[in-house]
Amino acid sequence: MIKKKQNRVFKGGVNLFDTYSIPFCNIFEEISSDLPPELFNLALPDKQSVKHIIATLCPTEPWALPNWVILGHKTTVFLDKIKEIKTSLFPEAKCSVVISNNETEHISAAKEYAVANEWMEVFAIEAKYPHDDPVVLSKAILNREVNFGQDTLSQGILILDAQTISAIHKSRVLNDNVDSRFIALSGTGLKENEFINVQLGTSVEKIIKNRMKESARCRVFVNGPLRGKEINDFTQRIDWTVNNIVVLEVQDTKVMFPMINTDRLHFTTNLLGDVRACVYCNFCDDICPVNLEPALYYHCYKRGEKQRARLYNLEKCIECGLCSFVCPSKIELLRIIKECK
Ligand code: SF4
Ligand code: SF4
Repeated sequence: MIKKKQNRVFKGGVNLFDTYSIPFCNIFEEISSDLPPELFNLALPDKQSVKHIIATLCPTEPWALPNWVILGHKTTVFLDKIKEIKTSLFPEAKCSVVISNNETEHISAAKEYAVANEWMEVFAIEAKYPHDDPVVLSKAILNREVNFGQDTLSQGILILDAQTISAIHKSRVLNDNVDSRFIALSGTGLKENEFINVQLGTSVEKIIKNRMKESARCRVFVNGPLRGKEINDFTQRIDWTVNNIVVLEVQDTKVMFPMINTDRLHFTTNLLGDVRACVYCNFCDDICPVNLEPALYYHCYKRGEKQRARLYNLEKCIECGLCSFVCPSKIELLRIIKECK
């Protein structure tokens, strides 16, 4: 069965692919670790505890690894992997395959596959950030309330991306070693945007050393500038959680309406610039995917009432950073929210 979720549950969010199109060079380089490579060794929950598997084939960030790197055109081969994982490891589980609605080839193939496999449902969703967030997906696909920071497994939901599904299949079904993963490298601080296949345990330094533009002052983000983390210690080693690395040249001024200045990824690289007063535009409220009112937190904070912010469902914030992203006054709402939390 094919299901379309047309903003019935999803709210807010932004299509970053429209805003920032990142052209990747399609040559895949293999990078080996200087140390003995680490092995993929994801601790899987026991059979009975998993009631639902959500396979997310809907990356919502343009700097994230796209599906085609893992799936190619072989959707059915990939779905067979899900089937074998389900059969051998989680026989009781139902499976929801969530695919970006522009991936028509995968959607058609999955639709056909689901006809003969009643344990599987297919959902086509718009690839709007952050609709692939575990909290948002659990609510939209299964109507389950998961709190931010809560492991979805506590509700029997196992959420897996395409690369992790392939790795589980290889290691747990075929009993073969997995010691490397694909990573997307992009950003204005790099000579080019590319995909690499890197051994687990390789340092970030080894990956970016010869790829950065000379003389550029850069900031480096693991897993993206919105929900990832900026790192300064480049000896950090690649583990299975690293999907992408974004290197951005530092900008010294704040940019008005960064979402319509689409030539560069400059929205989080501002180190200087005046924060202006809130202009009550409600952009932040409109875009929040979990129905919060970020401006309210800001006004509580500004009045010195951080505690009061907690009265307004602050704990439901999934820290996606969209409110900061759209704020024309460049108020750092996410930082304020984290402080209030
Ligand atoms: S960071 Fe929190 S408050 Fe801001 S848009 Fe995301 S969920 Fe809403
Ligand atoms: S987006 Fe910024 S300026 Fe607009 S209401 Fe929210 S905090 Fe105020």
